[in-house]
Amino acid sequence: MTNQDIMQSLKDKDTRWVRIIWCDNANIIRGKAFHIHTLADHLTDGIGISVAQQAVPVMADAVVPETGISAVGEIWLRPDWGTLRFPPYAPGHACVIGDMYDGAQPWKLCPRHFLRRMIRRAAEFDLEIHLAFENEFYLLREGALGPESVDRTVFAEIASFDINREVIDDITDALLRQDIQPERYYPESGPGQQEITTTYQPAALAADRQLTYRMTVRGVAARHGLKASFLPKIFPDTAGNGCHLHLSLWRNGLNILPDEATPGELSATGRAFIAGLLAHLPALMAITTPSPNSYRRIRPHMWSGAFRAWGWDNREAAIRVPTNPKPPSPTHLEFKTSDASANPYLAVGAVIAAGLDGIRQGLDPGRPVMVDPADLSNQEQRTLGVDLLPTNLAEAVQRLSGDPVLREALGPELADVFMAIRRAEWEVMKDVDIEQEVKLLLERY
Ligand code: GLU
Ligand code: MG
Repeated sequence: MTNQDIMQSLKDKDTRWVRIIWCDNANIIRGKAFHIHTLADHLTDGIGISVAQQAVPVMADAVVPETGISAVGEIWLRPDWGTLRFPPYAPGHACVIGDMYDGAQPWKLCPRHFLRRMIRRAAEFDLEIHLAFENEFYLLREGALGPESVDRTVFAEIASFDINREVIDDITDALLRQDIQPERYYPESGPGQQEITTTYQPAALAADRQLTYRMTVRGVAARHGLKASFLPKIFPDTAGNGCHLHLSLWRNGLNILPDEATPGELSATGRAFIAGLLAHLPALMAITTPSPNSYRRIRPHMWSGAFRAWGWDNREAAIRVPTNPKPPSPTHLEFKTSDASANPYLAVGAVIAAGLDGIRQGLDPGRPVMVDPADLSNQEQRTLGVDLLPTNLAEAVQRLSGDPVLREALGPELADVFMAIRRAEWEVMKDVDIEQEVKLLLERY
């Protein structure tokens, strides 16, 4: 986009404010806006923010001392004008995603730079990763006792389509107007829970669009007097909000997940990538399910990826490989141990790093698990290599701190700061009950 194009499109849309957006280490989406009359001052270098912005936890705007980051220091959010969008729910405001710069250099704690590095790493393997986020969220309204679901429907119940048609249509129209193509929609299992999937994209674009998606769902819902929340577990007894990642591996424009020689099988590269994900899964969870609340969602029989296992069409395995009715099959894999409290850049980058490590080491994922792993005896689980995943954030962070591959990928600075923030969140929330936790987190995600 030339400067001329940028100015013209801002003018065409009667823009007053341009929000420069970032997503922090607590996965809060934040923005700072400049007024259109000051465009020339902000066009290239953007807006300054304190380094402390990458050292704050989800609970409050207070720096976590263990990050080693203080109130001194400035980094710059440089607008990536290719991401300029005009959110229909906020007329007069434009959104552009920022890259964090330390002077002329990409900042070591910038999540978007981390993802780009991992995409370049995949390119060294001649691989391009495509993916889609399968977002689930609850639609809520304020009730006498706090937020209540907008309906009492169950999975795909047709009544929910009618109850929520206007808000769903506004959400999907708003996504389309920001270049995000909705794909499938149905009311999910929980009361008021929804799922709208979107088409897959190259990884960098998909991560950017995840920010737009979250902002749009919440922004449009608010215009309808509703709250939308992606928090992984809002109600203890109903389905949680997953955000499964659907991934495919491409080489020279071809999806290389299906095996060329044996129809219906996974390629050797695909198998090794899955093996890498499984090998690093307990550590990955600190990044893909990073909230203390995330672990309330990951339970057997909830389709939430509670077991370290892979299987064909197995919705209880952390990695499901869906089969297609016609060849080519399989064409993608689903990583279920992931939710929308994860920073999409960190989650996708870490998933790529784990999968590539599987390829580098030539790991094998073993046999597929073709039963609900919860129905296996301990002995059978051991034989199949199925084991328990961390059951709380502290355990996952412990596993990440013991995973040199993921720490190296993040880089020591980002890894240490990220883990310090997770530990601070865990310390505050470890003894808190779900009601208080939800009060604290519902609006953040
Ligand atoms: N809500 C489930 C979860 O927590 C996912 C249901 C599904 O398979 O889409 O991940
Ligand atoms: Mg779902």
